[in-house]
Order: sequence, then structure tokens, then C-alpha cells
Amino acid sequence: MVMKYDVIIAGASFAGLAVAKQLKGNILLIDKDDVGEGQTSACATPISLIEKCNAQDSIQEIHNVFSVYVGNKLIDLDLEEPFVAFDYRKFCKSMFKDLRVEFKKTIIRSVNCKSVSTDDGDFEADYIVDCRGYKGNSRNSIFGLETEIEYKTQNLQFYLTSSFVKNGYGWAFPCGDRTRFGVAKIGTEGTKDLLEKFLAKFGLVPSKIHGGFIPSQLQIPVRDNIFFVGDSAGQCVPFSLEGIRPAIYFGTICGKLINRMMKKEITYETAVEIYSKHVNAERYLFLILGRVQYYSHKFPKMFYLFSKLFLRKDSFWYRSQYRYLRHFNIENID
Ligand SMILES: Cc1cc2nc3c(=O)[nH]c(=O)nc-3n(C[C@H](O)[C@H](O)[C@H](O)COP(=O)(O)OP(=O)(O)OC[C@H]3O[C@@H](n4cnc5c(N)ncnc54)[C@H](O)[C@@H]3O)c2cc1C
Repeated sequence: MVMKYDVIIAGASFAGLAVAKQLKGNILLIDKDDVGEGQTSACATPISLIEKCNAQDSIQEIHNVFSVYVGNKLIDLDLEEPFVAFDYRKFCKSMFKDLRVEFKKTIIRSVNCKSVSTDDGDFEADYIVDCRGYKGNSRNSIFGLETEIEYKTQNLQFYLTSSFVKNGYGWAFPCGDRTRFGVAKIGTEGTKDLLEKFLAKFGLVPSKIHGGFIPSQLQIPVRDNIFFVGDSAGQCVPFSLEGIRPAIYFGTICGKLINRMMKKEITYETAVEIYSKHVNAERYLFLILGRVQYYSHKFPKMFYLFSKLFLRKDSFWYRSQYRYLRHFNIENID
């Protein structure tokens, strides 16, 4: 007999956990790994998000300064709001502990409009949410690889300079006694090599490597009656490569809407319309930063020059980050 649920959430990372947090009922959350395993991310995000998710115990280090290396210059920029480097496992466990859901660890074979097929059999539900991350393999998408090393340094560092990372960008995010070093560029080819060269600049070699595609093209968020959230819907911001806040923001919206459908307060059509409206409201930001990402890869030298000029102007930096951080605020969701 096929087990039937109110909602099935496929994927239990940032997006899936945010959806689940909003739901009451007969909910099934499925992931191929235990909750908190299978980290892909550098796990840096504004401190307010961690507070709103009640996951303060996951904070590893708080950063007030963002250091950008452009050309041969280092520019230190104050952050309007501190960013934190956090522990993925602890964060997910904090999100998971208060959930009223059934969790199943199994590999999902396919997701359909009313059912999910897994290695442990098929499951049915009234609503299906796909939070399985990026499933494509586009040669034109940004691909990032990262490694965590015992190495002490300061500030969130971003490398927009060909002397450190050719045809891409790099980062070093300190998290306590360790630092997450990563690189991102278009396509998978040569990325591991790029990471090795980047680390060699610090006299280091990579440890265990993780990462994946970073999908930054907003997709239609409801297709074939399936709600898509997070990387599965291309909701990672271009250029900044911030995907955690959007996954939690859109996951919260999607979860609230499904809850309202379950209570018969709104119809399916209304839920789709509201969710799509929230996603479409971010299209302009994705378009602008998508262009920046494109030109930074196509004409890196020109891009470094512009960055150098712009980032020197405090007013430009402060205005931009003020505006940018207003996006994806879960407190603004009613
Ligand atoms: C190298 C790198 C560094 C990054 N750094 C940052 C950063 O510092 N800050 C930031 O904001 N963003 C960062 N991002 C982006 C961010 O990690 C993603 O946008 C974010 O993880 C998206 O969350 P998600 O829940 O949609 O998907 P994911 O985190 O990818 O989670 C998908 C979940 O689905 C599960 N799953 C997948 N397929 C199956 C299957 N077939 N069966 C069962 N389960 C399955 C996986 O196990 C996983 O738990 C980074 C990305 C990369 C690649």
C-alpha cells in the first residue's frame, strides 16, 4: 500500500527545512543524507538570519569587515550588518529539532505532481515541494569548489584578481581556527586545478573538497503542480553567490502558502500566484547581478578596474549593501 501524506518535501537542507518549519500536519521530509550531512556551501550569511532561525549555537565566527582583493590592492569594507561563518551540521540540526515531520533517509528517484518515488518505495501527497538543489549540469553555470583547512586568518575575504584566481573568483572565509577556501568559475573544467593554485598562494593544499553548481537563473517556481524552492528553482543570487538567505526566504513563503491551502484559506491557484509574485519581485536584482557576473567573467581586467574605482567610494559600497540586504528578509513575510 502506498503511504499518503499531506505534504512531501524532497531535500532537507536550507530550502526543505524552511518549508517544513511552516507546516503542521502529516508531513514527510526526505533526504539521501542524515540532516546536517552533505554540506556544499561556504556557510556565510548575515547574522540576523541565524538569529531568526534560532540557530545561534551554529555560529563559528562573526565578521564585521569584508576584504576585497582587486588587482594588487586590498580594500577593507565595513559591513552594515555582521556576517557569520556557521557550522552547517549544527545549523540544520537546530532548524530540524522543533519540526513536526516524519524524516526518511532514502534516495529520491523521481518527483511527480502527487507522488515521490524513492529507493524505499513510492509515497503520495496532496502537495509536493522539490528542494533537492540544482539537478542540471550546464556548461554555462557557475561551479564552485571549496575546502576547509586549519588556518587562521581575518575577515571575510573575496579575491577578484587574476593573480590569485584566473577567470573566476575566490574566497577565504575564516570560521574559528579554520578557514574555508573556495573558487568559483563558469563550468566544471579546471575548477579543482584552480582551487589548488589558489591554495598554493597561501602555501596550502586542499583537504576534503565539496561544492557544486551555483544556479542563478530564476526558474518558473511551480511546474507540473510541484513547488520548487532554493537551488532547484535557480534562486541563488548571481555574483554574490548567496543562496542560503533566498532558500530560507522562499522556503518560508512557500511553506506558509501550503499551510493556508491545507486550511482551505486559499486555493491552489492563489498560492501559485502569490509564490510566483514573490519570486518575480526579485527578477530585477537577478538581472542586474547576472550582468555583473557575466561581464566579470567575460572581461575580467575591465571589471577589476571598475571594481577598484567603485569600491573606493564609500558611498557606493554603503548604498549598494544597504539596498542588497533589504532583499530576502523573512520578517517581511506575512
Ligand atoms: C562552493 C559553494 C559555496 C557557497 N557558499 C555560500 C555562502 O557562503 N553563502 C550562501 O548564502 N550561499 C552559498 N552557496 C550557495 C548555497 O550553498 C546554496 O544556494 C544553498 O545550499 C541552496 O540550498 P538548497 O536547500 O536549495 O539546496 P542544497 O543545499 O543543495 O540541498 C539539497 C538537499 O537535497 C538533497 N538531495 C539532493 N538530491 C537528492 C535525492 N536524489 N534524493 C534525496 N535527497 C536529495 C541533498 O542531500 C541536500 O540535502 C555556496 C554554494 C557553493 C557550491
